[in-house]
Amino acid sequence: MTPTAESVTRVVAALRSRQPEWEALPISARARWLSRYRDWLWDNQSRLEALLIAETGKPAVEAGLEIPYIVQAINYHSRRAPRVLADRRPRPHGVLAMTKRQLIVQRPYSVVGVITPWNFPLGLSLLDAVPALLAGCAVVVKPSELTPKAVSAAVAGWAEIGAPQVLDVVCGDGRAGNAVVAQVDFVQFTGSVRTGRAIARAAADRLIPCALELGGKDAMIVLDDADVTRAANAAVWGAMANCGQMCVSVERVYVESAVYDEFVSQVTAKVAALRPGIDMGRFTNPAQIEVMRRHVDDALSRGATALVRSHGGDGPTVLAGVDHHMLCMTEETFGPTLPVVRVRDEHEAVRLANESRYGLSAVVFSRDRHRAEGVARRIDAGAVNINDVFANLFTLALPQAGWKESGLGTRGGSEAVSKFCRPQAIVAARVTPARELTWYPYTPLRGAAMRRVSRLIGARGFRRRFG
Ligand code: NAD
Repeated sequence: MTPTAESVTRVVAALRSRQPEWEALPISARARWLSRYRDWLWDNQSRLEALLIAETGKPAVEAGLEIPYIVQAINYHSRRAPRVLADRRPRPHGVLAMTKRQLIVQRPYSVVGVITPWNFPLGLSLLDAVPALLAGCAVVVKPSELTPKAVSAAVAGWAEIGAPQVLDVVCGDGRAGNAVVAQVDFVQFTGSVRTGRAIARAAADRLIPCALELGGKDAMIVLDDADVTRAANAAVWGAMANCGQMCVSVERVYVESAVYDEFVSQVTAKVAALRPGIDMGRFTNPAQIEVMRRHVDDALSRGATALVRSHGGDGPTVLAGVDHHMLCMTEETFGPTLPVVRVRDEHEAVRLANESRYGLSAVVFSRDRHRAEGVARRIDAGAVNINDVFANLFTLALPQAGWKESGLGTRGGSEAVSKFCRPQAIVAARVTPARELTWYPYTPLRGAAMRRVSRLIGARGFRRRFG
């Protein structure tokens, strides 16, 4: 049920009233609550995963990844937060600045709204909630209307451990999300480009910051010196994991001519061998099946060949003879499809990979590390995995940042906690005469003194200093 805007207002107001006390705790105390919460997550792992499986249709192995992922984030950010949030005293930039005591403190946004999609309900909600809580913010999570249960149960755990009530959840569709955006001080959004744009507009109206993690159309490039078997295994997992419902799914593959036939034959055999219910879950959002069918039908009607395809058209699908302008190559499919294109050389591969409005991440396979890195540096995407797939998601020290229409701002990495803070400058006079040279009253004598002092300090060379 979608809550009314009034009930979202009530939830946010309650969080806002409790946040100052949470911010006032030392970071070590906030980290202690997070560590108790980590223990609670382990103790409730099976129950939360059962909820995830029921509402998303994920296979057990995939549901089993979400809690360990959050726990890694709790451990990593809790360790780093004290250093990241520590007060800083910058060196004075000049002689006059030496007369002031300078301090930079990190002050959290009061209430952060975390709005999330249905493909990784727990992982994506808590991945952002954890650093925001460590920063000292209160957090309201708005999970997808398709998958509210696991997130609601996980947020209930925060209350169960007796932590200060600075984490809450509101459920409902886009209207609830809209009400969250209208109330909070910072929006952390994960979802489609369309909703991301609407949120950016609403945030601009309120002049509040938003960070957007949006869709993708990730390209994989297989160079002629690649380990073809590892590349094929990576392509199949990269395209089919979570039933292809990942922002960073491998959605198009460009293979150099010399290894194309071998790659396609391995990929075809491996996809055909995937076991429904064990390797492959179901579509969480049935509307996505229609998108996939539309993309595959469009490709087939324009001359592509389906090397693997289920009868219903909603199972793992491998497409060859694909043209770069077909829908399956330009629009996010968010389903288990793997279109493969033969390319002349790496230059053509890079050009085609970059011909996209998306720029989330990409994959390059080559046995030559320098060649692969050279290609990676020419790809317009926020992350590139070499001889690997999704690896950047599991390396928490690295930022996740979609380029082009794939996002705005970053998640994770060294900014994960500090991005939820505003730097506050505090400056105090060290010497306190009755008045400063620049204060009232303005007199010719004080004006001349000011000119002389500023020349002495700012000019270079005897003539300009004393002229
Ligand atoms: P969506 O944009 O339809 O919905 C996402 C969330 O936004 C939901 O909670 C929804 O209720 C809410 N929402 C809808 N309209 C809103 C509005 N006007 N104001 C505020 N909130 C609103 O996306 P989805 O279908 O749930 O998820 C799939 C998309 O998410 C795909 O495009 C996928 O690529 C993307 N995604 C991106 C990442 C990433 O990290 N870049 C990760 C996972 C998924």
